[in-house]
Order: sequence, then C-alpha cells, then structure tokens
Amino acid sequence: MNTLPYLPFARPTLDEATVEDVADVLRSGWITSGPKVAAFEAALSASVGGRPVRAVSSATAALEIALQLAGIGPGDEVITPAMTFFAAPSMIVRAGATPVFVDVEPGTRNLDLAAAEARIGPRTKAIMPTHFAGLPCDMDALHALAQRHGLRVIEDAALAIGSSWRGKPIGSFGDLCVFSFHPNKNVTAIEGGALVVNDAREARTVETLRFHGITRLPDGTRDVAVAGGKFNLSDVNAAVGLRQLARLPEFNARRRALVARYFARLRTDPPCELPHPGYPGDESGHSWNMFAPLLPLPDLALSRKAFRDALEAHGIGTGVSYEAAHLATAYRRFGYHRGLLPHTERIAESTVTLPLYPTMTDADVERVCAACAEVLAAHRR
Ligand SMILES: *Cc1c(COP(=O)(O)O)cnc(C)c1O
Repeated sequence: MNTLPYLPFARPTLDEATVEDVADVLRSGWITSGPKVAAFEAALSASVGGRPVRAVSSATAALEIALQLAGIGPGDEVITPAMTFFAAPSMIVRAGATPVFVDVEPGTRNLDLAAAEARIGPRTKAIMPTHFAGLPCDMDALHALAQRHGLRVIEDAALAIGSSWRGKPIGSFGDLCVFSFHPNKNVTAIEGGALVVNDAREARTVETLRFHGITRLPDGTRDVAVAGGKFNLSDVNAAVGLRQLARLPEFNARRRALVARYFARLRTDPPCELPHPGYPGDESGHSWNMFAPLLPLPDLALSRKAFRDALEAHGIGTGVSYEAAHLATAYRRFGYHRGLLPHTERIAESTVTLPLYPTMTDADVERVCAACAEVLAAHRR
C-alpha cells in the first residue's frame, strides 16, 4: 500500500494572512463588489503597466464580455487555436459568432500564425489566442498579423499571469487580455477573472456589461441600454486575489525551479516528448502553469488512461489539457473532423499534465519522475 501523501496535479497555495483578510471582509458588512475589488483591480493594473483592468467572476465571463465589447456577433468569425480550453470557443458561439479552429505549432503548442492567416476572410473579426501553459505566443508576429487584417485580439491569458514577452508582461501591451483566478491557475481568487482593456471608455463599458448593462441616470434612476450579464466579483474573492497577486513572483519562481528539476529528471524509456522549455534567453517569460509531457504512445502497450490510472495508484494525480476543441460535439458542426488539425490531435491524445504547484518539494518531483519511468518501462512495446 502506498503511504506517501497524494500529489494532485494542481493545488492552490493559501496562507493564514489570506484567511484573516477573508474573515475581515466577512465581518465588515460589505461582502460583494466593493473596496477589495477596487484594490484588486488597482494591483492588477499596476502589474500590467497601468492599463485599465476590470475584475469579473471568471475568465469565461471576461471572454464573453470582451467579445461583446469588440462588437462581435452573428455572421462574424473568430479565429482560435484548437488546442485551447472550451471556454474560448463556447463564448464565441454564445456571442452568435463562428469559431474558426486553427492548428497549433507542435513545439510551443500555440496558435500557428501562418495557418491562422490562411483562414482569415471577409467575416473574420478577431483572433483569440491562448498562451499555452503560460508560454507566450509570438506577440510581435501576432499583432503584426492582426494589424495587417484589421482584427481585434482577445488574448486568453488564463494560464499566463506573470508571463512576459521580450521583458514586457503579458497584458501590459496589445489589445484585450483575459486572466483567470480559478484555483488551478498561478493566482487564485477562489473563482474570478479579469479583463485588461485599452482605455477608460472601454473600462466603463466593461463595468456596464458585467453588471446587468445598467447605467445610472442623473435623476437617480437606472437605465439599461445593452442587455448585460451579472459577472461582478465579490470582495471575498478579491481579498484572496490581492494576497495571491503579491506572491506571484515567488510562486512563479518556484514553478520554474520545479520545472527545471522535471527537465533534469524526467528520463523514461521510451522517452516522453518534453514541453517547450521557454524561449532562449527569455526563459523567465514562461509562467509554467502546467508541465505536460506527451506520452510516446506508439512505443507503449499502454493507453493514456491506463498510464494515468497507474500514476493514480502511486498517489499521483494527472490532468489532460486539453482535448482537441474542434472535435467536441458542440463545435464539430462547424465542419470539423479528425485529421484536419494533426498537431492539435496528436497533443490532445498523448498529453498528460503532471503535478506542479509552488508547495511541491523537490522530492515530490523525484517521486513523480520515478513513477513515470517505472510505469513506462514496464509497458514498452
Ligand atoms: C482556466 C481557463 C479558462 C477558464 O477560466 P475560468 O476562470 O475558470 O472561467 C479559459 N481559458 C483557459 C486557457 C484556461 O486555462
């Protein structure tokens, strides 16, 4: 029997100061959006070079609002990588627009910009890239492409808080940028998200769209000009997020150190395909939300499911990020089938997310690597 502690694939790092801050909010008499949200937004804004940021209830909500802000609706097309979380294509569909799935580069697992450009047509309005696992897309090439074709860019930076491109934090430049504070992300607010916008006018529109579309009239009554949703964040969440954000550099440094150990120690026979290590000379620009090698399935008499079950039996949790979005039932109807986007499909079939979170120890990484080596060696073809 295995007596070692269970290692989940992700785990939030919450301290006693956070518990105290949450208790203070609960005692304060003001628990929904208020001073803590304002402070959280100010701290987020400071982390992205002073650009306006508005907090919302999730990254999914932020994506939905971003699409509305960009005026995207029926008849419009939005380009998105097929190797992404379902939130992006689902929000495109909910906006009434059509998701156009494009393959990713096999190395970075980020949107293949040449393939994206080939899919741009008269209906294309925006491009919604994901920074896979926290590794930034080529932002220079991305924005050059968007400018050439007059497209909005809605960055799904759910995994990329604290990442940077050529020294500039993700979110500090570009167009619209979305962060997530789900417990599996590098900063959590229990749940929550944020949208970075370009100017005060856009920020005011976000404030309206996140709260019923309500605007206040001079006579003290309210009006609704645009049907808005209900996506505001509570002060309880913001109190957690504020404490977390202060520790982001420390968290991400620890993630990088753990990943360096994975790269040094994950030696299996047959070998796994290791993730992209980050751009040479700019390795600290990768926030390492996940460490996800690809299994050498052709050389194994073992399915991914059986591999994951074997690690689970060792007390090691794993994840799958992501399934191939274009093959999901809700999106196949836009004309997709297996074989169209081969890099995405190969990654989706063979990826396994291994445990990675700041409170993991070096010994934990050794344990995961040893378990992987043992299971793969026992099942080589
Ligand atoms: C987690 C995640 C989301 C969704 O974030 P929520 O805050 O849970 O809505 C969106 N996109 C990507 C790439 C994610 O990893």
